[in-house]
Amino acid sequence: MKIINSKKKLAQLRNESSLGLVPTMGAIHTGHISLIKKSISECKKTIVSIFINKRQFNNKKDYKKYPRILKKDLSLLKKYNIDYLFLPKEKIIYPKGGSKNLQVDPFSRKLCGKNRPGHFKAVVDVIDRFIKLIKPSKIYFGEKDFQQLIIVKNYIKRKKINTTIVKCKTIREKNGLALSSRNLLLSRNERKIASKVYKMILNNKKKILNKKITIKKVKQEILNLGVKRIDYLELLKINKIIYPPKKKVKYKIFIAYYMNNIRLIDNI
Ligand code: AMP
Repeated sequence: MKIINSKKKLAQLRNESSLGLVPTMGAIHTGHISLIKKSISECKKTIVSIFINKRQFNNKKDYKKYPRILKKDLSLLKKYNIDYLFLPKEKIIYPKGGSKNLQVDPFSRKLCGKNRPGHFKAVVDVIDRFIKLIKPSKIYFGEKDFQQLIIVKNYIKRKKINTTIVKCKTIREKNGLALSSRNLLLSRNERKIASKVYKMILNNKKKILNKKITIKKVKQEILNLGVKRIDYLELLKINKIIYPPKKKVKYKIFIAYYMNNIRLIDNI
């Protein structure tokens, strides 16, 4: 696993004809590893990046407390057949600051976009910069961050960028909790509650669809579990949102909520 942290070293990637990129913010877990394994199985070479993109955090405290465990990450990543690890400094990605006039999909105004202004623009900006620097043939994203996946995919399509976005399914703990770097910031009890939130949504999804229970009632049940605040709990028809669009109606329930001060998201 070659570490790449300079523009000069990036040059060696340009000749790779089949290069898979797995962008992460570190605190590597089994969810990330599933993306890495998929890239290794589909591409001749795989590059993983660890970059905590400050610009996509709209809360300074959230950025400061985001888990940083690079040493552990390195020893874990070394166990896999990764060709390159990209560890860029801010200056390499943003030599002249962020882009101001990026156009992102209207879907970015829904769900997380309501409470995190500018977040998706910053995500698209950083991915666009990674693409220009690395020129990957494929980029691997988790369905765990469904909105991010759709917004990036639509951007790539609209800009006719020559790379494929690969969707990877959400990896969960046995108790149902979706793996996330932020889970490291939760106590054992908070993780238990978070797994109950997942089960609550899963068990009520059909009832919500059949109008046997209201979203409002499920929200209350979730708060009763010990959740501090819910940013949103929404049912969306996603067959037209995904690309290529599907005729068959498909629904997903999206949630963002706070356990203590940690914001967690999921979609079921
Ligand atoms: P992050 O480091 O949280 O920015 O995540 C990097 C990539 O890993 C994103 O494409 C995420 O959607 C994906 N990812 C994070 N958690 C999971 C998970 N539990 N299952 C599958 N993919 C995930």
